[in-house]
Amino acid sequence: MPDCIFCKISAGELGTEFLYEDEDLVIFKDINPKAVTHLLAVPKKHIASIAEMEDSHTHLIGKLFLACKKIADKLGLKGYNLHVNVGKEGGQEIFHIHVHLLSKFSQN
Ligand code: AMP
Ligand code: ZN
Repeated sequence: MPDCIFCKISAGELGTEFLYEDEDLVIFKDINPKAVTHLLAVPKKHIASIAEMEDSHTHLIGKLFLACKKIADKLGLKGYNLHVNVGKEGGQEIFHIHVHLLSKFSQN
């Protein structure tokens, strides 16, 4: 297993506050928000990138997007963007799959 910050965060090793957690994934605030609300949905399983996605990951990746919808509903966000960077040239900096949830609406 690579030395991966999102593996550590999703395993609860860094004490990160989770807005959502289940057996497969966590959602937490981005440390450097680029919108009023900026969350990251991260699977507990290490998959480096959508570029490494396999058929067996289909359910997990679907769950990531469904969890974003559920947290957005819970927070009352009227609209939002879901964003995935793929590969270094695609702007990906952390090589553990994550979905950015960005909204101009406040999470409060
Ligand atoms: P990407 O460029 O798609 O790989 O996005 C990585 C994101 O992770 C960036 O928006 C960072 O601000 C965010 N990030 C990096 N380290 C942390 C951390 N320790 N906690 C929360 N977010 C982080
Ligand atoms: Zn990882």
